[in-house]
Amino acid sequence: MTAAGIIALAIGTGGCGDKGKKAEPAINAANMDTTVKAGDDFYKYANGKWLKNNPIPAEYSRYGAFEVLEEENYTQLKTILAEASADKNASTGTVNQKIRDFYNAGMDTLKIEKNGISPLKAELDQIDAFKTVADVQKMIIQQHASGNYPLFYLFSSPDEKNSNQVIATTYQGGLGLPDRDYYLSEDTRSKEIRASYLKHMAKMFVLAGSTPEQAAKDADMVMATETELAKISSTRLELRDPATNYNKTDLAGLQKMAPGIDWKAYFEGIKLTATNEINVGQPKFISGMAKMINTVPVDSWKVYFRWDLINSAAALLSSDFDKEHFAFYGTVLSGVKEQRPRWKRMIDQTSGSLGEAVGQLYVAKFFPPEAKKRMVELVNNLKVSLGERIEGLTWMSDATKKEAKLKLEKINVKIGYPDKWIDYSNLTIGTDSYYANQKSARQFGVNRDIAKIGKPVDRSEWGMTPQTINAYYSPNMNEIVFPAAILQPPFFFMDADDAVNYGAIGMVISHEMTHGFDDQGRQYDKEGNLHDWWLADDSKNFEAKTKVLVDQYDNYKILDSLHVNGKLTLGENIADLGGMNVAYNGLLKALKGKDKDAKIDGFTNDQRFFLSYAQVWRANIRDEETMRRLKEDVHSPGDARVNAIVYNIPAFYTAFNIQPGDKRYIAPENRANIW
Ligand SMILES: [Zn+2]
Repeated sequence: MTAAGIIALAIGTGGCGDKGKKAEPAINAANMDTTVKAGDDFYKYANGKWLKNNPIPAEYSRYGAFEVLEEENYTQLKTILAEASADKNASTGTVNQKIRDFYNAGMDTLKIEKNGISPLKAELDQIDAFKTVADVQKMIIQQHASGNYPLFYLFSSPDEKNSNQVIATTYQGGLGLPDRDYYLSEDTRSKEIRASYLKHMAKMFVLAGSTPEQAAKDADMVMATETELAKISSTRLELRDPATNYNKTDLAGLQKMAPGIDWKAYFEGIKLTATNEINVGQPKFISGMAKMINTVPVDSWKVYFRWDLINSAAALLSSDFDKEHFAFYGTVLSGVKEQRPRWKRMIDQTSGSLGEAVGQLYVAKFFPPEAKKRMVELVNNLKVSLGERIEGLTWMSDATKKEAKLKLEKINVKIGYPDKWIDYSNLTIGTDSYYANQKSARQFGVNRDIAKIGKPVDRSEWGMTPQTINAYYSPNMNEIVFPAAILQPPFFFMDADDAVNYGAIGMVISHEMTHGFDDQGRQYDKEGNLHDWWLADDSKNFEAKTKVLVDQYDNYKILDSLHVNGKLTLGENIADLGGMNVAYNGLLKALKGKDKDAKIDGFTNDQRFFLSYAQVWRANIRDEETMRRLKEDVHSPGDARVNAIVYNIPAFYTAFNIQPGDKRYIAPENRANIW
């Protein structure tokens, strides 16, 4: 809901595992396609047979290492939820009772079917009764106070220039499609999506009781309003610039900036008293949106709010709504053929609403303490490794290097699970209604969030749950975080050799640390404040260095005619390239005194390092999903994460004997090298 991506620069957006493959060697030659030359397409060379033998299951838009681990994760969480849901003795108010009743209510499809759209009835009636702009404003307050966010978001966030303090932040929103460009672009795919979105809205309105004629008209009306919102929205590229999105003001300043809304009433309504510091993420959006409140006819707002309510609740309602919602957001946008079985979706929902409660059970059952110990060692080695890389840079002055190393030294590390768990005692979950439970959980979340504003940052908090297969760097906290679930093969092998671990989890660790020094992260100092600590010449050199990477990715072709967006993905690509260089340096240190060219399963250490990296990113992906991600995702596609990285690294050339004339050979002077 509150765009976690703003603080977290995650390594991937899916989940991952190696189901039933525990006995499989860490690097398995049977997954490779050696008919492809390593110098022509290393991604295919390393993964060709795996890709061929693992078609995408109907319920996935993408299927690769992350998703295989995600399946394993479902199996583990299923055992936890099966136990919890059968626990008749859990007394009211305990975490076990809440998990049990939340999951069971979600699985009670008989009741959900019977209820149809009735859970929304009171709010829909209220919207139908809109008469004036004041009614519209009242509805914004009411929805935001309950954790649903038509038009824009408001959430807690560290002050970008005073990272110990939590302040309120507004952020653009209000769109039913995942990006402004879908409303405004004239390319074939965007037009297709707009046409399908109109049909989808009309179908949903019919399900909610409108005549087909009225439904079609209403869909057009929503599209018109959302298109106006899209026009005042920032692009994804603009959203990546921290300075542009930092505009601190106070209540009076906001009232002046966006006079169309009564902000005092708004803050009172959402029970926020600390309004002396507010970061307006996108001023153009907030003032334009507030103006629209008064210029768009109330009848249009009626339809807009009606749509927002139905759309945001669709997956929680009876199957006619749920299925039509999936047909658009799953099938049209991502190409997914089939909805996941309900038990998986209810695991996701329970895990989303009671994240750390489920996480606590998950960690107790599935996270071995030795994994944490091994990770601490790896992180420490890789910190030293990045320090050495910084010391050795030829393009950076000693003064900036000194600051960079201080920042590196200060990076905080979190592994596995939080020391302090979220207290869910103020959340009431019952057996009556799945929708009501969802609403309570949402309310609990928003109350917690609003309560943080105006207080010091709680540095013990986590931005992901332990059962999440992912990792992140937070620029405001200057910290790297590795949830328990990513500490499994093919990322982390408790017993495998160093080369395999450094190529996978070692690269993940280094990737996250490098985020502190990517084009965004470098703008924050060691305390997590947006503050320039670079000498001007060093910044210039950095930009020239990153330009090489931007150009390489801009030229990286996907699906014949589409290209990666080098600027949108720059932060991730810097982190991938730096991550690999730092991890490789770490491997060399770990192998000191050992026979570097000794082979395991036929591969040298260097070869295993690069093969291990390549298998983390193996994935088959549907064309629709590829197109969607190229527009929306700051991460490059898996094949680019391999092929656009390894040919920049000298050790790769020796490991696989890559020669001039090989398709992806890059002459040394043209290779990208930043950290
Ligand atoms: Zn990342």
